[in-house]
Amino acid sequence: MENEKKTDLKSLPLEELSEKLKEAGYPAFRAKQLYHWLHAARVRDLDEMTNIPAAMKKELSEKYEITRIHTIDRQISQLDGTQKFLFAMPDDCLVESVFMKYSYGNSICISSQVGCRMGCRFCASTLDGLIRNLTPAEMLEQIYEAMRQTGEKISHVVVMGTGEPFDNYDNLLVFLKMLTDENGMNLSRRNVTVSTCGIVPRMLDFAKENTGVTLALSLHATTDARRREIMPVADRYSIRELMDACENYFRVSGRRITFEYSLIAGVNDSEEQAAQLGALARKAHAHVNLIPVNPVKETGYRQPERNAVIAFKNKLEKHGINVSIRRVLGRDIDGACGQLRHRHLLSCRQNNQAETTSEQR
Ligand code: SAH
Repeated sequence: MENEKKTDLKSLPLEELSEKLKEAGYPAFRAKQLYHWLHAARVRDLDEMTNIPAAMKKELSEKYEITRIHTIDRQISQLDGTQKFLFAMPDDCLVESVFMKYSYGNSICISSQVGCRMGCRFCASTLDGLIRNLTPAEMLEQIYEAMRQTGEKISHVVVMGTGEPFDNYDNLLVFLKMLTDENGMNLSRRNVTVSTCGIVPRMLDFAKENTGVTLALSLHATTDARRREIMPVADRYSIRELMDACENYFRVSGRRITFEYSLIAGVNDSEEQAAQLGALARKAHAHVNLIPVNPVKETGYRQPERNAVIAFKNKLEKHGINVSIRRVLGRDIDGACGQLRHRHLLSCRQNNQAETTSEQR
């Protein structure tokens, strides 16, 4: 078929790439060369691959495509060097990533989907619903393109941007495999974190995959009733089931879980809730990462006062829990997840509508 989509070279793990090239009659070392160009040298297209013969490039370009994403907007914080990127995918869908500097190295927070269908009430990423899943190449490219743009190395990756990674499970697994492949980006498994709103069956599957990465659970409430008020996914899975899945992940992987807890004034920040969270975290061998909620205009949720945040932290520490308060990075640029995209999308939608109207005329 003429308009059938070409296979994306950049989404193929090394074994698959090797098989395809072998079928096409190429010697085995060509797959490694190609994989190296794409994922270690991270060049943009075939022209830059100096040791690949022209005839092979021609054949490859007939059968395959190489995903490239483009930087549409880049905001650099004057306060701490945090950089927020808005990337356009090959079909013009927009995705956000955040590059952050820490004492231990540079970290990037990437998106796993275009939009999200989980509906968490405090989150801007879900306001426009889910458009589509991102491919492994589109997840990798967010990292590669940020490295090209900043000229810096990246040692840590968190899948904590827009989207629910376990709602794009198969692509996530391929992405993680490629990200940690020593022939490519070669990122240490220990430096990768995947954050989920808590899709229990996938958490159990993920433990079996033995990826060695850190799992973060967006808990945000200590009772099922309160969790249901702020996270629709809580209608499907109870905190009890979540805790069992966390304990299982810890047992199987030996990796400590992180609980993400967005503190919302008057909703989940009481002393009693701190005590309940402490008990849950102790049982699940979890660290707790407190995130004073980022106000999103559409939601009306507010952060507790700073001293209430500290008091909440102290109370948890009394339970022997390891707690961090997420450093507020890039205060001077669009803070909350999905806000940059949401803002662009509104204007983008208007443009699209204008185009459709003029086409219909
Ligand atoms: N879907 C995944 C990952 C994306 S969200 C998940 O739910 O974990 C990354 C983290 O930021 C989650 O813990 C999410 O609940 C939190 N978050 C989203 N919007 C927020 C906001 N406005 N303020 C604080 N945390 C927020």
